[in-house]
Amino acid sequence: MAKRPKRELSKRDKLSIHRQTLLRVSYLFQASVAVANVNPELAISYIRMMRSIAQKNVIRIHPELRRSFCEHCCFPLVPGKTTALTPTIAIRCPHCSGTSRMTSRRMNE
Ligand SMILES: [Zn+2]
Repeated sequence: MAKRPKRELSKRDKLSIHRQTLLRVSYLFQASVAVANVNPELAISYIRMMRSIAQKNVIRIHPELRRSFCEHCCFPLVPGKTTALTPTIAIRCPHCSGTSRMTSRRMNE
């Protein structure tokens, strides 16, 4: 039996899927920050879900958002809410004590 040709998505459909994915990524990050102090494990699972959704849909997480969670354990790092931003260029995760180093150029972006 002949294989049916795959239906091409229109540009409008592709944009709609892209937009929905970006909204999901944004929503999961906001939910993660909201529950970070109450339930850190749930916050981490939201960030991991966000990363996997972005990876599956081949979407790059915005650099500002990408630097807002610990690269070791995925705990959300929001200055004043979940972590304190020190004047040094290293940010320490309160959850796993892992540090992320940033140059001043990266922090200003
Ligand atoms: Zn961490």
